[in-house]
Amino acid sequence: MSTRTGKRAVSRAATPDQPPAKRRAEDQKAPQQQPDNHFEVQTTIKKHYDFDWIHTVSGFVKLKQHHDVTATHFGTGASLPPDASAMTPRNASEDPEGLEGSKLEDSDLEDSDDMEDSDVKDSDDMEEFGEDSDSAPGKDAIGGCYALLMRPNRAIFYDDMEQLSVETSALAFELFDRYGRLKPEFKEQGVKSGSGIWKHELDIGRILLLEDIRIGKSFRRQGWAKKLVAAMLQATRAKCKTFVALTRPGVIYRDYGTLKGSLTDAESDRFCAEELRVTEVFWRSVGFRRIGSSQWFGLASTVNHACHTLPASEDYDLPKIPGLPCYPAAGSLLADIATLKDAEAADKVRQVFRDAPIPTPPPRDSAMDSLFVAIETERDEECVEKLKLALDHLPVDDPRYEARDSDGNTVLHAAAINFKPKAVKWIMEKNALLVGKRNVEQEIPIEALQNRLEFHRTISGSSYLTVIEPASDKFKGFSTEMVDCLCILGGRSNVSEIDFQRLTCGCTCGQCMDGFLSPRMRYAVLCQAEMNYDMMFAENGYMEGSDWVELNDTRLVHVPDPVRENMRTNKSMREGHTNLYNHIATCLKSDKVPNTFNVLEALRNASEWPPVTRNFLERGGNVPSVGSMVFELALIQDELAGDGQHMEVFKDDIEVLPECRNDHEFGFVSGMCGYKRVSNIRKVSTFGSPMSSE
Ligand SMILES: [Zn+2]
Repeated sequence: MSTRTGKRAVSRAATPDQPPAKRRAEDQKAPQQQPDNHFEVQTTIKKHYDFDWIHTVSGFVKLKQHHDVTATHFGTGASLPPDASAMTPRNASEDPEGLEGSKLEDSDLEDSDDMEDSDVKDSDDMEEFGEDSDSAPGKDAIGGCYALLMRPNRAIFYDDMEQLSVETSALAFELFDRYGRLKPEFKEQGVKSGSGIWKHELDIGRILLLEDIRIGKSFRRQGWAKKLVAAMLQATRAKCKTFVALTRPGVIYRDYGTLKGSLTDAESDRFCAEELRVTEVFWRSVGFRRIGSSQWFGLASTVNHACHTLPASEDYDLPKIPGLPCYPAAGSLLADIATLKDAEAADKVRQVFRDAPIPTPPPRDSAMDSLFVAIETERDEECVEKLKLALDHLPVDDPRYEARDSDGNTVLHAAAINFKPKAVKWIMEKNALLVGKRNVEQEIPIEALQNRLEFHRTISGSSYLTVIEPASDKFKGFSTEMVDCLCILGGRSNVSEIDFQRLTCGCTCGQCMDGFLSPRMRYAVLCQAEMNYDMMFAENGYMEGSDWVELNDTRLVHVPDPVRENMRTNKSMREGHTNLYNHIATCLKSDKVPNTFNVLEALRNASEWPPVTRNFLERGGNVPSVGSMVFELALIQDELAGDGQHMEVFKDDIEVLPECRNDHEFGFVSGMCGYKRVSNIRKVSTFGSPMSSE
């Protein structure tokens, strides 16, 4: 699989925006316009050989033949079967821009967990039309499409997706949070939500990731890609009722690679921009719509989803990069070269560029360019000196304040995302207008900083294709420079100590205790401390010591072995351990984080008699062995990280509490209390043995 997952899915479709007369003329030049009733689309769904939560979905355009009846057949002579046409635009073989959106018929199929394996023989046909597809389309396949139908465990979403491929990692990190929920900026009102049609449908259920679609050069512009996608969706639909299909249109390297050598940089940029535009037109023509302002496109299987009613022409387009030239549409450039030999294709590209000359980009100001480099690489104080040299003498309306880097960042964006508070302050005092300028991602400087911080907290430190401790669990808070930048950009001066702590810990509710323990997390941990105290206390009353230790096996995993053995025969040790749960609850009820210091203070205030907890602590027991466990128990019942029992039982109490970014960050919060960073991901070494997280 790894050979294809790194490549962007891409396809060729007839481009719509070329005058019909010209298109006909090109058609005559296109080689091998074969009658297509010799071919048909076949699909297979198979269990993934490594992961039980994945099925692979493959589709091929093949010569018609007698074959296994389990394959889905879409001959092109006839119209698509009713359900297939329901997945595609009504006018699938015509102008793709003219559609109003595809419709899915709801079906009565159960969304069954045990999808049956189709017993179609193993097939590596994807490779057969691989590198030599231009002239000879393998044995009998002239095109193919490859997809993964996934049901990842949302509690360990990043971990599941990272193990698969670079493409699935990118999907996970670019669109989702650690619990597999679509990132809030794509859902909530604002420029980053794009068309605003994607909400919670991506947070649950199956994902069909269309990774690769290819049609042999001689067979492009005949509608095969559309039929292939329709068949893939139809086959998936027959297996499960609800899913969202996702793809990231991009430039197919294999086609571009052979051309690249004969193009200038400017031509190359333009070629890629144009190819991307055409592939986006294709995916929209088969019903896909952009997810927020991301590079991903989605199609939901549910009939009433807004993606089916949003016209392609009104789907969200990413803004052009400021400072880079906007090319006029090059029409059928891509469709043309798709059917040409490479040498002719290079000529054709140059011809088109001569016909529509590339506009001269605005001249780069080299002084400003080096200023951007300085902001990125030099110390804060030096940045301020460089800024003074470059900008101090300029009036506020000087165009140099509008200078951008290749991501469309102004100097203020750059200073913010490189965590240079003194530079941020200097720029804001000099030119306050920059506070409201947007970059390519449509972010004003403070939003760019917030997203950079979220990246820092969630992803940086992760490495693709390895089993890792989630970066979010290792988080220890943002640096002073990062928080200073946030305060200055947000216009907040005289920030109190606790508010500074909250900003440092990424709190979004403004109520986190010590900056990191949110009201919902506090409540979850309190529930566990109280319930488990009650249970163990009761069991202590009527159970034999060794039975009690056996029964509480899992609660005692962090207790040192000799202490656990001692607890079999020593009732006061068992009571001391149990009472610690109660002291933790006392801490939380008096609005103190349950760290060792505060728990010991609660113990002192309790004037416990007989002093069983002191006894437990003096004979080798410790507070972290219980503190870590309380967080672990809360994690196990969390609605995102665990089985959801906590929410089921205490829904009404929970929902009146404010939400915070820290609500489900059990590893972070337990670590901040000085305990083990608890996690639901079983870490194993390369040799398969369990690894500790600390
Ligand atoms: Zn908070």
